[in-house]
Amino acid sequence: MEYQALAERALAGNLLTTEDGLAVLQAPPEDLHPLLHAAFRVRRATFGTRVQFHVLMNAKSGLCPEDCGYCSQSSVSTADIERYPLRSTAEMLDAARKAHQAGAHRFCLVISARGATDRELDGIAEAVRAIKAEVPVEVCCSLGLLPLEKAERLKAAGVDRLNHNLNTSERYYSAICSTHSYHDRVATVQAAQGARLATCSGVLAGMGETDHDLIDVARALGALRVDSVPVNFLNPMAGTPLADVRDLTPWRCLKILCLFRFMLPKTEIRVAGGREVNLRSLQPLALYPGNSLFIGGYLTSPGQSAAEALRMVQDLGFEVGEPIAMARS
Ligand code: SF4
Repeated sequence: MEYQALAERALAGNLLTTEDGLAVLQAPPEDLHPLLHAAFRVRRATFGTRVQFHVLMNAKSGLCPEDCGYCSQSSVSTADIERYPLRSTAEMLDAARKAHQAGAHRFCLVISARGATDRELDGIAEAVRAIKAEVPVEVCCSLGLLPLEKAERLKAAGVDRLNHNLNTSERYYSAICSTHSYHDRVATVQAAQGARLATCSGVLAGMGETDHDLIDVARALGALRVDSVPVNFLNPMAGTPLADVRDLTPWRCLKILCLFRFMLPKTEIRVAGGREVNLRSLQPLALYPGNSLFIGGYLTSPGQSAAEALRMVQDLGFEVGEPIAMARS
């Protein structure tokens, strides 16, 4: 496979074909270097060697009525996790301060819910106002399904970005969740866009999906023109329906990241949840296609500390910070 030709096509704004995507996902291990080199060419054109840090806060844990098979906080999960209602404004503000001190560019407030109630939305809005008044971080919210009216309330409170992942292809969606649909998720992303919020929507790889599913969801995210794509890798949790699924290898994870970089050349690609356990010793290589990271752990599982992430970035000769230009054509 001529990966540099893929890079040139991506840089010229031409969509990869399904055959191109399959070639990336099925690349043999000896192609590691040329594939990463080509993906890095595309990454560097928009993001240089910069890496953005994001911090997550689980602001309401383990109380979701939905049945997403991968999620430790779902109604069908028996995972041993903390369960608590919405954190107070003071707790959310304190977490935002700590995220900023750790070097985060963006602080993400997440709740486990089908969708935020009016009361929860008021609590989040109050916390966001307090954070924006004091802490120089971008604020992202991930609150489940969201209609336009609630998205507008978040925008008015100062929220910068809304996250709602598509997770997998339209075709595979019903295999991972029965209580809401792929289209519900697309509608939430579109509601955020209607409220003029930036959007973050990504995938969760390793749930038994096919290569075609990954290519299709990458294409769908490109069509939605989301601003940021977190690429999560399943970290199977005991007590969840997907506890025994082990589909990923470090090399497979790198190929998935390269696919998303080629298919979404100017979009922030985040090496997201599950990176530590799935990429293992190859984690630094993920920053050739990817340009952002979560630091300090995930919603219900631990992750790499800020200090370790900073060392990894510096060891590569890269820098932590916002991209110089994130212009979108
Ligand atoms: S909607 Fe979110 S919190 Fe609820 S089960 Fe699905 S992924 Fe988990």
